[in-house]
Amino acid sequence: MFDNLSERLESSFKLLKGQGRITEVNIAETLKDVRRALLDADVNFKIAKEFTKDVKEKALGANVLNAVKPGQLMVKIVRDELAQLMGGTAEEIDLKRQPAVILMAGLQGSGKTTFSGKLAGFLKNKKSKNPLLVAGDVYRPAAIDQLKVVGEQIGAPVYTEEGNKNPVKIAKAAIKEAKTKGHDVVIVDTAGRLAVDEDMMKEISAIKDAINPHEILFVVDSMTGQDAVNTAKEFNDRLDFNGVILTKLDGDTRGGAALSIRKVVDKPIKFVGTGEKLDALDVFHPDRMADRILG
Ligand code: GDP
Repeated sequence: MFDNLSERLESSFKLLKGQGRITEVNIAETLKDVRRALLDADVNFKIAKEFTKDVKEKALGANVLNAVKPGQLMVKIVRDELAQLMGGTAEEIDLKRQPAVILMAGLQGSGKTTFSGKLAGFLKNKKSKNPLLVAGDVYRPAAIDQLKVVGEQIGAPVYTEEGNKNPVKIAKAAIKEAKTKGHDVVIVDTAGRLAVDEDMMKEISAIKDAINPHEILFVVDSMTGQDAVNTAKEFNDRLDFNGVILTKLDGDTRGGAALSIRKVVDKPIKFVGTGEKLDALDVFHPDRMADRILG
């Protein structure tokens, strides 16, 4: 996970760590290296530039030049700034209401159905909830079957309506069913498309308006880097979602989406997917991720 970035940052700091006396020029060179590392990780240009500017200000403010261990101090400043860039502290999902209604949004293949199952399992096992999964991807029979398989593995029932092609009606009926059957969380999986298109946006907006979800979670493949960030922006402009789910982090050697998304859409990353198995999800902790990146 983010191996390239870790290696690049580590080599950026070599210059400072080995040096007896540190000069402002050394710091400037290191920061240039850090910026290149961020750009190679597919971090947005503006964000990378601001990042190094902020680090420089903090470094001068902390009087790095006169520190006993300037290299270590710089690493700490970069680490704190990385954590800040990714959102600072972990943010939970809102489960206060009965039932809590969670709407999943995102492109086809982003990992929505898999994550819906992972979330149901997490809520069942870690939060003692009784979730109901809802098959709102009505166009692909395979998608409904996939959710059924996932539900079975997790031990969570799946609400489907054979032959009904209206996801708004299905979602509303599912919430009614959840109330009568005592489910405290409803997770609505929806249809994605291969790229952002108007029909998909209209449909998901209509579902949002009809069921008034407490959480809209935008699911995105972290391996798509800047595309992930651009897609997040388009979905957020339409849906004003509550949080981001970054999937496939296990295959992401670069990390650009994780580092840019928060700043671009101003919404927290709430969970990350770290594998195909249904227990491969983690609550996203920006500070722990920053520690990992700087190894
Ligand atoms: P959907 O079309 O958005 O519902 O996407 P799916 O849930 O069907 O996922 C698409 C593919 O990505 C499947 O092959 C999943 O097994 C895979 N996938 C989903 N999440 C992860 C993850 O966190 N890591 C990895 N490696 N694969 C994932």
